Amino acid sequence: MKTCLYCQQRHADARQACTACGMALPASNVNVQARRLQRFQWFCLSLALGCIALFFWLPRDFY
Ligand SMILES: [Zn+2]
Repeated sequence: MKTCLYCQQRHADARQACTACGMALPASNVNVQARRLQRFQWFCLSLALGCIALFFWLPRDFY
């Protein structure tokens, strides 16, 4: 399946253009989505590690 970048309409892979808005569909969408997902997972992991580091780094006797 391909998803139109402009109107989010889903189409079969054989289609070259969107039937709803007429824009050209992306050629290889699967690799891009996999890379985006991998980058997002690394972002979440580094965010969690950063929160854990801040938890130990900041002082506890704050109040
Ligand atoms: Zn479209």
